[in-house]
Amino acid sequence: MSFDLTEEQESLRRTVEKFAEKELAPIAAEAEEKGEFHREIFEKLADIGLLGIPCPEQYGGAGLDYSTYILVIEEIAKQCLATAVGLAVQGLPQIMINLFGSEEQKKQYLAPLASGKKLGAFALTEAGAGSDAASLKTTATLDGDSYVLNGSKVFITHGGVADIYLVMAKTNPGEGARGISSFIVEDGTPGFSCGKTEKKMGMRASPTREIILEDCRIPRKNLVGKEGDGFKIAMIALDSGRITIGAAAVGVAQAAFDESVKYAKQREQFGQPIASFQAIQFMLADMGTAIRAARNMVREAAYLKDKGKPFSHVAAMAKLFATDTAMKVTTDAVQIFGGYGYMQDYPVERLMRAAKVTQIVEGTNQIQRMVIARHLLK
Ligand SMILES: Cc1cc2nc3c(=O)[nH]c(=O)nc-3n(C[C@H](O)[C@H](O)[C@H](O)COP(=O)(O)OP(=O)(O)OC[C@H]3O[C@@H](n4cnc5c(N)ncnc54)[C@H](O)[C@@H]3O)c2cc1C
Repeated sequence: MSFDLTEEQESLRRTVEKFAEKELAPIAAEAEEKGEFHREIFEKLADIGLLGIPCPEQYGGAGLDYSTYILVIEEIAKQCLATAVGLAVQGLPQIMINLFGSEEQKKQYLAPLASGKKLGAFALTEAGAGSDAASLKTTATLDGDSYVLNGSKVFITHGGVADIYLVMAKTNPGEGARGISSFIVEDGTPGFSCGKTEKKMGMRASPTREIILEDCRIPRKNLVGKEGDGFKIAMIALDSGRITIGAAAVGVAQAAFDESVKYAKQREQFGQPIASFQAIQFMLADMGTAIRAARNMVREAAYLKDKGKPFSHVAAMAKLFATDTAMKVTTDAVQIFGGYGYMQDYPVERLMRAAKVTQIVEGTNQIQRMVIARHLLK
């Protein structure tokens, strides 16, 4: 594993950095305050080929590896976590359909997702089934050449704005995890609707919504993989998703660190910049060290995935460490800004609220510790 980026990776990273500074930085604070989703940003991301990074070229994607994907996510997250998470969520159905879907599904769904013509979403969580996802209650009953879905999903990122949902439902309710299957459900299908839009602590430019399935009849061919594959598909999606959430957390932490260094050099108390106080210097030293370690862990997880090696526990470690780092670094950033850090005039309070969600999504950090411990003790 090399620490150097290839020329192509560095060039793409710079392009994305400039894009994020130009397109996201000016709108991020207002979009957060108003809770506004900017669909046009996803069109612009599509224009520069960023919505189809993990999708093979033959199906209309960029066919880039995960080591490149995380660079893009980190740069976007520095300016706007909502957009970075949206980018990660857009990748999930592409990865899953490419891995488990039929040739017909790949031809029908991958190109519109990779080109951004359609937005994707991943629907696993239910009101009563969060960490214990295998206990989900949504059902899919085979009826002739259709499946009929009934149930509801909560906290779905891009719920209501997505066109294509990868939905986990029980085809065999008596069988726990092995009874779960995975389906493509298109917006507009009769029986598919959206419920409550959540009002969130942070990442408010990313819509999080309930989706409802009431006698929602979809073609039998929308089953992804085989009946009973759904839990496996969801867990593989989460393994991959943990790497991108780790990368997003590194971006949030880096942004808070950069703001802190700038502020510590400018802000004077007792006749000198606060950066001259050892208490502030040591906080910055710890922040910079943790961010570097987190970034390297995320890169290692991506590297292992790219090489086809086991990466599940490393992805869990990277997600755990990177998101805990983001929480600690953004909290310390607010501290370095003092009272101003608590005010909305500066970005660090927004970054602190953003960091919190990274410790919860794609499996809480308690669940990451369980995944890691299970691996270490086996
Ligand atoms: C903004 C946002 C966006 C989201 N987007 C999506 C999405 O697009 N698609 C989707 O399917 N889901 C999504 N989710 C759901 C997310 O994955 C869940 O919130 C998460 O998995 C936790 O489930 P829960 O909220 O039900 O918490 P619970 O599972 O009820 O957990 C509550 C607490 O108990 C702890 N806990 C639970 N079980 C154990 C255990 N065995 N040992 C120790 N501690 C435990 C948890 O760590 C947590 O601290 C999103 C959530 C948020 C907040």
